[in-house]
Amino acid sequence: NEKTMNNTTEHFLEIDSLSKQFAGVDALKNVCIDVEEGGFLVLIGPSGCGKSTLLNMLAGFEEASSGDIRIGGKSIKELHPSKRDIAMVFQSYALYPNMTVAGNIGFGMETRGVPKAERIKKTAEVAAMLQIEPLLKRKPGQLSGGQRQRVAMGRALVRDPRAFLFDEPLSNLDARLRVDMRAEIKKLHARLGTTIVYVTHDQIEAMTLATKIAVLRHGEVQQVGTPDDIYHRPANTFVADFMGSPAMNRVTGTLQRTQNGLELKFAQFTLPLHQPSEELLARAEQSGTIDMGMRAENITHAQGEQAGETDFGTLDLTIELIEPTGSDTFIATRDGDVHFTARVENSLRARTGEQITLAFDMSKAHYFDTDSGERVQ
Ligand code: ATP
Repeated sequence: NEKTMNNTTEHFLEIDSLSKQFAGVDALKNVCIDVEEGGFLVLIGPSGCGKSTLLNMLAGFEEASSGDIRIGGKSIKELHPSKRDIAMVFQSYALYPNMTVAGNIGFGMETRGVPKAERIKKTAEVAAMLQIEPLLKRKPGQLSGGQRQRVAMGRALVRDPRAFLFDEPLSNLDARLRVDMRAEIKKLHARLGTTIVYVTHDQIEAMTLATKIAVLRHGEVQQVGTPDDIYHRPANTFVADFMGSPAMNRVTGTLQRTQNGLELKFAQFTLPLHQPSEELLARAEQSGTIDMGMRAENITHAQGEQAGETDFGTLDLTIELIEPTGSDTFIATRDGDVHFTARVENSLRARTGEQITLAFDMSKAHYFDTDSGERVQ
């Protein structure tokens, strides 16, 4: 049929109009996501948005109310979890406490009747890959959190599945170990090339690992795109606010025609628009209300070089808070109800309560419809 004929690697894993109701609650609403073969899909969204429900449906632990899931063009919806050829790595690791590390890794192969010699070979291979060879004889209770996480991954890896599912695998690790394991997972993915679906709360994990990110809210997909799309072209104010730290600055203003183009007015301030689209020009003729968004890294301390550049607008605001992070410094500023966070060089000498002139790179501004929150430009 047409589906299988068009079955290119772009549609290796197809989540097709998937919905799930739990006793009247819509946990997932008409979710559609395609993942290419070897892709790394990250599911992200606030607590209760349906991430785990979706992952559990892919694994086969939860039944869909409607819709389909296909791998390589074939529906897997009716298949028992053990027949899906998908391996899941749980947040809790779910290791057998009385078995050794080698036993834990080999257990799945044993139940599938893989001969002993092959089990030993495969376990050794995976242990080498994860650098846990010295731990093979230990029990889970004798391992650190990071080591347990590796063992849990090892158990999935020996299966050599068509896809891996990761359910917040790093959330029980401390900050440093998280960063290390994140890099390990990325390297492992590059090496194996196996398709991964990965659930996380952590936007840095999403940005660094994913080839594709799906942002969910109340069971609905808000946007599916590359990390670059999600960060630089958020589809609506929810995605804009959710991704990025510090959160994107946003302000509601009015668009007004000027001799040269458009400007945005809010409170006593005015900022020029950079290359406004036809849509924005038309909106200026109507109500003119618009939401403007700008990330902290596109607002900085005004210096000589921005003067006279048409892409820049400047505002004078009062410094409310200074947050050095080491490499960068973030400055929270305010004037009445207007507030913006800017990223400045950490060498800048500034004090709270002082005035600062901020330069806004208007070529990086985002515009959203004030009512719907949908992206306009
Ligand atoms: P978290 O990040 O907190 O783990 P999540 O995004 O994974 O959240 P889900 O666990 O998928 O969210 O839950 C989605 C919605 O479905 C929530 O409103 C939740 O309360 C509901 N839900 C999940 N499982 C069940 C269940 N077995 N019975 C009833 N409601 C459920």
